[in-house]
Amino acid sequence: MTAGLAYPALHASHGGIWVCGADGTARAVGKGEAVGLVAETPHILLNAPLMGQRLGYPDLSGLDLLELFAFIHPARFMVPTPDGLARALSLDPPESEAGVAGFYRVAATRLLEQLERSDWGEREGAWSSAQALYRLRWPWAGVVGQKLEKPAQGERWLFSKLAEWEEEPPRPAPKTATVNPDDTVTMLRHLTGEGAEDRQGQKDYALAAAGIFNPRKAKGAPNMLLAEAGTGIGKTLGYLAPASLWSHQAGGAVWISTFTKALQRQLDRETHKIYPDEATFRKKVVVRKGRENYLCLLNLEDALQGGFAGRAAILAHLVARWAAYSKDGDMIGGDLPGWLTTLFRRNGTTALTDRRGECVYAGCPHYRKCFIEKAARASQQADIVIANHALVMVNAARGREQHNRPTRLIFDEGHHLFDAADSMFAARLSGQEAIEIRRWVIGPESKTRGRRRGLAARLADTASYDEEGGRAIESAIHAAEALPGDGWLQRIAEGEPRGPIEALLHEVRAMVYARDESQSADAGYGLETELTDIEGPMIDAVAQAAEAMDALLKPLVRLGQRIEHLIEEGPDWMDAPARARMEGALSSLSWRCDTLSGWLSLLARIGGPADPDFVDWLMIDRYEGREFDVGICRHWLDPTIPVTEVVTKPAHGVLVTSATLKGGGGWETARARSGAVHLDHDPQQFEVASPFNYAEQAKVIIVTDVKRGDMAGLAGAYAQLIEASGGGTLGLFTAIRRLRTVYARIADRMAESGLPIYAQHVDPIDTGTLVDIFRDDPRASLLGTDALRDGVDGPGQSLRLVVMESVPWPRPDILHRARRLAGGGTAYDDRIIRARLAQAFGRIIRSKDDHGHFVILSPAFPSRLFTAFPEGTPIERMPLEQALAEIRSHREKSDASGLSPATSFGHDDPV
Ligand code: SF4
Repeated sequence: MTAGLAYPALHASHGGIWVCGADGTARAVGKGEAVGLVAETPHILLNAPLMGQRLGYPDLSGLDLLELFAFIHPARFMVPTPDGLARALSLDPPESEAGVAGFYRVAATRLLEQLERSDWGEREGAWSSAQALYRLRWPWAGVVGQKLEKPAQGERWLFSKLAEWEEEPPRPAPKTATVNPDDTVTMLRHLTGEGAEDRQGQKDYALAAAGIFNPRKAKGAPNMLLAEAGTGIGKTLGYLAPASLWSHQAGGAVWISTFTKALQRQLDRETHKIYPDEATFRKKVVVRKGRENYLCLLNLEDALQGGFAGRAAILAHLVARWAAYSKDGDMIGGDLPGWLTTLFRRNGTTALTDRRGECVYAGCPHYRKCFIEKAARASQQADIVIANHALVMVNAARGREQHNRPTRLIFDEGHHLFDAADSMFAARLSGQEAIEIRRWVIGPESKTRGRRRGLAARLADTASYDEEGGRAIESAIHAAEALPGDGWLQRIAEGEPRGPIEALLHEVRAMVYARDESQSADAGYGLETELTDIEGPMIDAVAQAAEAMDALLKPLVRLGQRIEHLIEEGPDWMDAPARARMEGALSSLSWRCDTLSGWLSLLARIGGPADPDFVDWLMIDRYEGREFDVGICRHWLDPTIPVTEVVTKPAHGVLVTSATLKGGGGWETARARSGAVHLDHDPQQFEVASPFNYAEQAKVIIVTDVKRGDMAGLAGAYAQLIEASGGGTLGLFTAIRRLRTVYARIADRMAESGLPIYAQHVDPIDTGTLVDIFRDDPRASLLGTDALRDGVDGPGQSLRLVVMESVPWPRPDILHRARRLAGGGTAYDDRIIRARLAQAFGRIIRSKDDHGHFVILSPAFPSRLFTAFPEGTPIERMPLEQALAEIRSHREKSDASGLSPATSFGHDDPV
């Protein structure tokens, strides 16, 4: 079977290292020998960065099966493990770790055989791509080239292959319509399926949700419903029933905004039930994300034509293969495998998206095929738009797509609204942000990568037609020279700033180092100090920086006015594409002007009285002791104020819903965190408890004898708990340092027990893929930061134990201190912790057949937080030994009843 494949293979894990020679003989080797072998001959392996880490040889390279898979099956889902690969290729998985290296050779052969099959569905484009990859010395190019036959006719180049979007007339405003309760119930029954059990809670929920579609009583006063629906109610179908009825009757779109990828995928599945016909579904349901998520074809073309070199160029070619088969061109969370970019150490990924607003719109040769434009246009005609909180807010705040403004909005995972608004409406005058504006105005300083061009090139026609506009561009370019340039971070650290903004950042940095008292739990991470008691040199630096910013803002505002004038005037040369380009330029211009105005008002406040609506501070961003940004931050004390103004009030109907909307507290939490308190009328409130029997299905255990600060004890507890549960454990940490220490102490022991363990911030794998791997193997465990509590959705028994290393106290940073003071001190902290506990607990029981334990390794866990858990959940304090015995006995019972982790897990539900 492996005849002809002359390469050996290598597999490394915490359990050992094995090689399998070209003759098919496998043996265990030591690290030193393995490193010598791979340095001599390229080996077949799976995930070179991960293998390199296991070997202690970070530069490991070879014939990576993941790269070959991405070439042969672009846009296809695969869990990047030996078992995942076996399933994707319909092969038997290796029976033991010792057999994995041999399996890699078999898998390589199977993949390469595909190249010769007549039914290979992803053949088009492969030959041309292989030629380019050969020139780039891609390790697989030689063998791939031998197997691939040259096509009889020239292949269509990616850019001619992609379909174009069609221009459609704007959609009329929705008609006034009311959703009838009987119709809602009938629709719900249709969506849940004939024969499904009649769930009163879900029915009540759907009827309550229908209320947001009633005609609005007054402008600025949307029908607003806050709805907490316990896990298992089926709230997705509950709101989809009235939403689909309204959109059908009124001819308008309902926007459903989510926070996690898992829910977006669930919605994608559930909405199929409304439109079972695939062609109708594609028209009626559209997934929208921020433009920075999508591949920019112009950037890709540039990368393919020499803009990228070395490994980044190989990635560009694999991305081009994917783009030709992708459903929607979404690079982050779409059908581009999350693991692909990490194989290339993220080299070049960001340069392939349109992160910096440099899109030239109709001036782009790929405009009619552009993934971003396609998604935006499709959503104008769709009935259901699945978006995310950030996109909904950014569109509203920046006045984008005014004609396509959501009027009926459902915020699912509504407990995240506050945090999403907090990031969206914050201002940050920092070196990284400022250099982006400089590049946007002037163009990049170095010419090494990309087609990025400045304003003058993008608006050449404006400049040549309109003298005043041309002068404004020149002045802006001149003024932007005052912004930080390449090497700014080093210059300010060395005390040699260039220009007034770098001089200000130099002062900021010095002040932060002088005053920081954060005693960050994770040494080596962010530093900060309050923006108060500012003196001499800083005041001077602020004045000069403000002058420089003002000098840039003025010509940009003038340029915006000139473009507006041109659009109104509509000269002969301005055809539809040119007009679209002008409108695009105007939108990104006003975004930059808003940013600069925000910075100016931030600077104006320095040395003056504080604005009670905002919290301002100085910061240095660091990761593992390395600085990467310095600046001044401003956040809203209550970020739901701007959300209410720009998103909620202009809408006609808004539903904010979640399983934990009240965060284990009362309705006042839900009203405050959703912004409903800022409306002039009271929102409707609805609540329905989970149908699960928590008294039988779950238990909270507070371990009383693992002492705080005892790292050996903490690591030992994690190891024993994972063993007792037979894996299937999600370990949550509040500090990265402790996560790493625990992982380092237990990884080998876990390997000996045959229980795979993965960790965020340790394994060179993106978080989404880590979660995929965890979900895919019921014996696997995953350690992550506390933030992972919402991103893991493990069906069945893949997640049966959550272990929290301590009470998830909020980080006592400046922003938190200010909100705590305004929000009632301890009561404010308790609300946050309860919400976090409720979310983490909610991971365990996802269906009526799930069982699980929630363990907190913190003897001092306060009883007042018990209300975070659903009513009826047993909560007990006990020593570790007792907890282990209980978890072990539970596992033995479920094994005996046939609900063993390995047998009850459904493999057919990828991601
Ligand atoms: S239209 Fe803009 S985003 Fe789309 S491919 Fe062209 S430059 Fe990129």
